[in-house]
Amino acid sequence: KKINVALIFGGKSGEHEVSLSSASSIYRYINKEKYNIYTIGITKDGNWMYYEGDVEKIENGSWEKEAKKDVKINLIPTLNQKVGLEFGDNTFKEIDVLFPVLHGPYGEDGSIQGLFEISNIAYVGCNVLASSVGMDKLVCKKVFEQENIPQVKYTYTTRCEFNNDEEGQLRSIESMIPYPIFIKPANLGSSVGISKANNKKELIKGIKEALEYDRRVVLEEGVNAKEIEVSVLGNEEIKASVVGEIIPAKEFYDYEAKYLNKESKLIIPATIEESISEKIREMAINAFKSIDGSGLSRVDFFVEKQTNNIYINEINTMPGFTNISMYPKLWESTGISYDKLIDELINLALKRHEEKL
Ligand code: ADP
Ligand code: MG
Ligand code: MG
Repeated sequence: KKINVALIFGGKSGEHEVSLSSASSIYRYINKEKYNIYTIGITKDGNWMYYEGDVEKIENGSWEKEAKKDVKINLIPTLNQKVGLEFGDNTFKEIDVLFPVLHGPYGEDGSIQGLFEISNIAYVGCNVLASSVGMDKLVCKKVFEQENIPQVKYTYTTRCEFNNDEEGQLRSIESMIPYPIFIKPANLGSSVGISKANNKKELIKGIKEALEYDRRVVLEEGVNAKEIEVSVLGNEEIKASVVGEIIPAKEFYDYEAKYLNKESKLIIPATIEESISEKIREMAINAFKSIDGSGLSRVDFFVEKQTNNIYINEINTMPGFTNISMYPKLWESTGISYDKLIDELINLALKRHEEKL
């Protein structure tokens, strides 16, 4: 019997477009002998709609105009209604597993995962806890600290604290962290709202900008480092891939450098010694376990150029997933092809769900 998979794409976050690319890749490569694919899009306003049509229209965003508004997406189980799709002609498709290909707030931060738990249905990727901790750069740093996973010096400020005592907050930040200082909204991705400050003036500007995206802002020491990424996969038995490296086209890996600038490069394997890669793989698995990860994550590191010191930067519980994104590319180099990877993620989702029952 074929397994019914619902791909959920789009979403309310600033990474809507990235999701469209990831989801169309998955749609194209998923093993269609084994899986029936249903696609559910979420508009930028947060409206869910069933879509059935060319994958190109998911990729270029025009799917919305052709979404089938008469199909009911039922995610709340009731006595006489299972979770699935209810078509206009009264036919019903039960869904076996949900695949939320969503990045950023609402899709990667535990919100949608909470809905799926309520639905009592298998879903691909991290659970509620891992997703929310992974998305929150501040809480995540505290967890890594507890696990003795090395990271750069950091502190934080909040909208309220900063507005009440700007001078005091700046003094405290400057006393703790040397310039250059990276400024990041606690809960975002794709470098949105992130800036680098070389002096107090830039620090103030960066904090104000970041506070537009989030109540809490993380400040951390900027390092001159190679950007190293590793993919992890698994529930209880966790595997780590070969290690890759990012060469941003710009001073740092901002949104433009990530998705628009063709000069940014992914190098696999990374240009670091095997002994360092081995340590990084081990740290990545520890980081994944420390947030109670399951399914997948891409764990990002800095390897300082002068010292070879390794620092964890962040964990992404739903990393970019086009067939040329780092996460699947790293698995491909490790011996798991893109379609096999999708297959494995769905198996992990079903297995986790069964084990809970
Ligand atoms: P996001 O979740 O948005 O990807 P990151 O924390 O990975 O946020 O930061 C985005 C980019 O900013 C990184 O890929 C890197 O290029 C740069 N960056 C972030 N923090 C630092 C740091 N402490 N030192 C040097 N570069 C940094
Ligand atoms: Mg991130
Ligand atoms: Mg990042």
